[in-house]
Amino acid sequence: MNTPNALSDILAQATGPRYTSYPSADRFSEAVCERTFLDALHDRSLAPAQTPLSLYVHLPFCKSICYYCACNKVVTRNTDLVPEYMEAVFREIDMVTKALRSPAPVLQLHLGGGTPTYLTDGQLELLVLKLESSFVFGAKAERSIEVDPRTVDKERLSALRTMGFNRLSLGVQDFNLETQKAVNRLQPFEQVAHLSESARALGFESLNFDFILGLPHQSRASLQETLRKTLKLRPDRLAIYNYAHLPERFKPQRRILIETLPSVSEKIAMQTMAIETLQAAGYEHIGMDHFALPTDELAVAKRQGLLHRNFQGYTTLPDADLLGFGVSAISRVGATFTQNERDLESYQDAVNMWLLPIARGHVCGLEDLLRQHVIMALMCQGFIDFQSVEAAFLIDFKKHFAREYAALQSYASAGHLVLTEESVELTETGWFLLRNIAMVFDAYLHQCRLLSNYSRVL
Ligand code: SF4
Repeated sequence: MNTPNALSDILAQATGPRYTSYPSADRFSEAVCERTFLDALHDRSLAPAQTPLSLYVHLPFCKSICYYCACNKVVTRNTDLVPEYMEAVFREIDMVTKALRSPAPVLQLHLGGGTPTYLTDGQLELLVLKLESSFVFGAKAERSIEVDPRTVDKERLSALRTMGFNRLSLGVQDFNLETQKAVNRLQPFEQVAHLSESARALGFESLNFDFILGLPHQSRASLQETLRKTLKLRPDRLAIYNYAHLPERFKPQRRILIETLPSVSEKIAMQTMAIETLQAAGYEHIGMDHFALPTDELAVAKRQGLLHRNFQGYTTLPDADLLGFGVSAISRVGATFTQNERDLESYQDAVNMWLLPIARGHVCGLEDLLRQHVIMALMCQGFIDFQSVEAAFLIDFKKHFAREYAALQSYASAGHLVLTEESVELTETGWFLLRNIAMVFDAYLHQCRLLSNYSRVL
């Protein structure tokens, strides 16, 4: 762990997970298999009160490659692959609902990818109908979909609204033409502006824009211009993710010339400027890379201490069991994480043999659950109340976390958090270091030296 002298030192050097789960997915083991998942579903069915459900469907197809991409996707123009894939997803849904036995309300549905809108409206409608006939959706369920602006128009948005989607997440990345060319993703501002207007007119409740910081040819000036344009459209939420250049792991990134990437110091300056610009425009910093308007329910939940975090990022939903369908999708049922096969063929082969396509996972022990609780408190509230952790897990916080408590002292001395006998609370600069501070409580990082495999924080 670094000694946190200067903020820029830490941002420049540190690496770490994003903690959409603890343990992070790269800790999952192949010892976890179909049987483990079925046991978790069985245990769930025996519980007196049914935990609500959150559903995720991974739709991996994309028409063209974006060079920065690190997602699990299949780039193809052969749309004939879709029906076979959908058949496998439908079969997987059938197998899971059979094992699930009792119905529980679905509070959240998210379609991610890849490019979910690679599917035709008819195919998406079939998928929604399949999900609706297999699960019980709560009346106010959040239904969100990731949208590649290049693949939709007003008519398609209208079709999505008719299918019940009430939230859109647009992959914008950057409005700068030079950057768009360098990453092979051309989408003019006017296109995004038109879609935003249409989404509002159609009554979508929440509009999110995703951006990436650290792409080729980006600078403070270009980012400022992108933000100026963005603020005209005033999305309810914004996420600004840091680009991690790992060409040895992600082949498409080899098309990006390293000399076109902004330096670490420029990235830090860009991030600082982005936060200041968005806050001056009235957005609240939710945590990590996320911002929301004060009226957005994420910002309200943060103010009320009711923010949660799951594989889709920040959410207002209390803990729900997550069922993930499709290639590489992750599920979490009770204390069990499972991940599906990450390769399309292996996924389809398993499902075609009526096997749940589980490739790996993790069953959390009590220590995992304790650390998960502490890390999520930091990620969501920036605050850990020792007494409430002690009451929930029957531990003496400072004794149990003696090493961690000592490690936090240096962050406290540097002004990134306030550490007392009763609690730890992040300061404004501490929110920049969220990942680093959360890493103090990650037992797995102390067990091995795989830090170099993580994406850089910046
Ligand atoms: S960024 Fe999105 S659209 Fe581009 S290749 Fe990756 S998954 Fe496909």
